Amino acid sequence: MAKYFGTNGVRGRFDELTPELALKLSKAIGAYFKHGRIVLARDARLTGECLKSAIVSGLLSVGCRVIDLDLAPAPTAEFMVKELKADGCIIITASHNPPEWNAIKVVDGNGVAVSRERGGEIEKLMEKVKQAEWNNVGTMRRNDSAIVLHIEKIMSLVDRKKITAKRPKLVLDCGNGTAALLAPLLFRQLGADVLTINSHIDGTFPGRPSEPTEKNVRGLVSFVKSSGSDAGIAWDGDGDRVIFVDEKGTYIIGDKVMALSTFWKLSGKKGDVVTTVATSRVVEDIAGKSGAKVKYTKIGAPYLSAEMAKGGYAIGGEEVGGVIWPEISLAKDGFLTAAKMVEKLTEKKLSDWLKELPGYHNAKISVKADEKLKKEAVERVLGHAKKEGLDYTDVDGVRVNLEGGWVIVRPSGTENRVRIFSEAKTEKEAKSNLEEYKKIALG
Ligand code: MG
Repeated sequence: MAKYFGTNGVRGRFDELTPELALKLSKAIGAYFKHGRIVLARDARLTGECLKSAIVSGLLSVGCRVIDLDLAPAPTAEFMVKELKADGCIIITASHNPPEWNAIKVVDGNGVAVSRERGGEIEKLMEKVKQAEWNNVGTMRRNDSAIVLHIEKIMSLVDRKKITAKRPKLVLDCGNGTAALLAPLLFRQLGADVLTINSHIDGTFPGRPSEPTEKNVRGLVSFVKSSGSDAGIAWDGDGDRVIFVDEKGTYIIGDKVMALSTFWKLSGKKGDVVTTVATSRVVEDIAGKSGAKVKYTKIGAPYLSAEMAKGGYAIGGEEVGGVIWPEISLAKDGFLTAAKMVEKLTEKKLSDWLKELPGYHNAKISVKADEKLKKEAVERVLGHAKKEGLDYTDVDGVRVNLEGGWVIVRPSGTENRVRIFSEAKTEKEAKSNLEEYKKIALG
C-alpha cells in the first residue's frame, strides 16, 4: 500500500511534500520509467521552483533525460508525453487545491496517470535505487514549444472557420493559473472576441480560489452579463477542469460540461463513454440516445485514463468538469473541451444547448464514520441491492441505480466520513431516496 501516493500523485503542504521527499520520490520515479526521457512541468505555486529543483536533481542523478517545459498547464504536459514519445511525465501541481498545497503528479509513457496502486510500486523502489556513475548522469533540455504545439493540435480538432465567421464574445477566467499561458492565445487565434479576468499567472491565486466552483466564479458570472458576452469559461489551477457560464449568467456545473461534451462528441462519432461512479445520470441518458454504453470507474483521473487506454471509447470524463478527448491525449483537457463548446456556440446559444439535457435534482449528506462504520455502511447497502435485485456498481463505494435516479454510498478516502449522494427526476424523490439509503447504510 502506498504511503505517499494518493488517488492522483503525492499531495501535501510544503512541510509534508518537502524537497527531500521530492528528491527521493523522483529518483524512484526515474527508475520506474527505466531511466528514460521524462517530461517535466509545473504550475506557478510559490513552492514549485524549489520542488522542481529537487525533482530535476533526483531524475538526473539516476540518469534520466529531462525535457523541461517549466510553467505549463497539465493537459499541455500530458499532450507532450505522446508527442515526444517520452517514457514518463511529472507535473508539479496541486490542481484546484489552495496555494499552500503542492503535488507531484506522475503520468506514464502511454499518457495514463499513476494511481495509488502503481504509486506503491514506485515507493518500493525508493530504498533500492542507486545513483548513476559520474559519466552516466542525466541531461536536461528546455522545450519552449509545448504550448504552441498544443494550441495547434486543438485548432486542428475544431472548425476554426465557423468560429471566425461568428466571432463569439467570450470571457475567460484563468484563475491566475497556468490556463493564462494558453487560453487567451488559443481563443484569439480561433477567431473569438476575447475578454479576460484573472489572467496573469500568480501562484498565490489572488483573483479567486483555484477551484472553479459556483461561489468562486461569481466575478466571471457578473462580467459575462455586464459585457453581453456569449459565454464565460473558467479553469482550475492546472487547466484540466473547466466550467462554463451561459449568456444569461447561469453557472454550468461539471456534470453538465461532461454531458454536453458527450452529446457533441457522439453526434459525430460512434463509441462508448467512460465516467466515474459519481457522475450524474445525465451522461448515461445522453449516451443512451446515441446507443452508446457507459462504463463506470472508481473516482480519480488515473482510473479513467487507464480505462480509456483500453480503446474503443469516444469520450471520457468526470463530474467536476474534466473531459478526456482521446484524439488529443488520455488526460482531461480543459482547453479542447472549451474549444469544442465555442465551436458549438456558432450553431446556437449555450442556454439552448442546455435544453438538450434532461433535468435532475440532487441531495447529499456526509456522516461521521470510523473505519468500521465505513466498511459496514458499504456492506449493508451492497447486501440490500443484492437482496432486492437492484442494478448496482461497487467499484468505489456502492452506486445503486433506481428507476429515475440513483444513490451512491461511498466512504471518504481522506476523512472519517461516509458520503451519500442521491439524484432523481424530482427534488422530492432525490430527498426520499437519500433518507432511505441513509437508514440502510447506517443500520
Ligand atoms: Mg486540475
